[in-house]
Amino acid sequence: MDWLWKRTRQESPERIAIESAGGDGIADIIAALPDPALILDPLLNVTAGNALARTVLEFDPVGRHLSAAIRAPAVLDAAKAALTGHDPVHVDYDVPAPVQRTFSAHIAAIGSTGALLIVLRDLTREQQIERMRADFIANASHELRTPLAALSGFVETMQGAAKGDAEAAERFLDLMRGQAERMKRLIDDLLSLSRIEMNEHLRPSASVDLGRATRHAADAMSEIAKAEGCELRISIEEPLVVTGNWDELVQVMQNLIENALKYGGSGKLIEIEGRAANGMAEISVRDHGPGIAAEHIPRLTERFYRVSVNESRQRGGTGLGLAIVKHILNRHEGRLTIQSAPGKGSRFSVQLPLRSNK
Ligand code: ADP
Repeated sequence: MDWLWKRTRQESPERIAIESAGGDGIADIIAALPDPALILDPLLNVTAGNALARTVLEFDPVGRHLSAAIRAPAVLDAAKAALTGHDPVHVDYDVPAPVQRTFSAHIAAIGSTGALLIVLRDLTREQQIERMRADFIANASHELRTPLAALSGFVETMQGAAKGDAEAAERFLDLMRGQAERMKRLIDDLLSLSRIEMNEHLRPSASVDLGRATRHAADAMSEIAKAEGCELRISIEEPLVVTGNWDELVQVMQNLIENALKYGGSGKLIEIEGRAANGMAEISVRDHGPGIAAEHIPRLTERFYRVSVNESRQRGGTGLGLAIVKHILNRHEGRLTIQSAPGKGSRFSVQLPLRSNK
């Protein structure tokens, strides 16, 4: 808004035009602003508000006193300060109900008219993102620090209590390799996630047969399946051609098959089915493991969310597999559906628009 103040101060004809235009001239100007805005008279009654202000306040504040339009004492104090001082005043305030939101209010005198302009900005989403970023960094550091602490512990023991003990050294080196592999998996997953997030707004354009990508992923997992004594039973109606990125779609299917092997119980059957329905290609991975309680299901795609942290760690999990799946599917305009119940196994289904349908 600086341009308005500078121009109105320097160019008196415009200032007079704005003043003499009364409420309407100013109402037109604030209607053109990209943020919610209000004009107040010197008694702090609202004389104009734009449509965005009506939306955020959830009523038309024109004719109301500022204290009724924005129920935040800090804003009232700031408006009084802006009336008496010369400089614009900036204040943040919370709206507790119905959902907690945070706004910033920028309050400035309109030349020497005695009127005030208030411009609001909703900071809620920005603050949420900031909190999520801080949580993510804290979680990632914690996840990396745990194996690192174990590694330093082993090194210390080998240099101290177990010094010269070849048998113990062999055992410790094995454990150390396990911890180093865990750190590598975590870093690989973090890098995948950041790469996918960076490209999330770019739509892929290649033609990919989702059935073939799924078979490729299943082949890559076949050795692990054999070791676990699991059968991967595949039944896919081909072709299921979608628009996508081959590597990313293979990664989606690999993460789902890997989870079915990790959590689905060894020695059991894993069914991978694919079909086309209602313009969508759908591939599901069904296991006959212990299943997942309903309260966990909506949170499984959050980064680092695990039903049991210990079980995930023991099985080499990072807590990032399904977050990666979700981000890849977002980029592909696809969907993940999870059906599961304790004792009934789990079914993770991926749906993507068929290419012929686009
Ligand atoms: P992780 O690396 O821990 O496997 P994921 O993001 O892939 O991370 O999965 C998150 C959590 O979801 C897992 O820790 C596990 O608790 C649960 N989960 C995922 N797939 C299954 C499944 N097929 N059966 C039971 N639980 C599962």
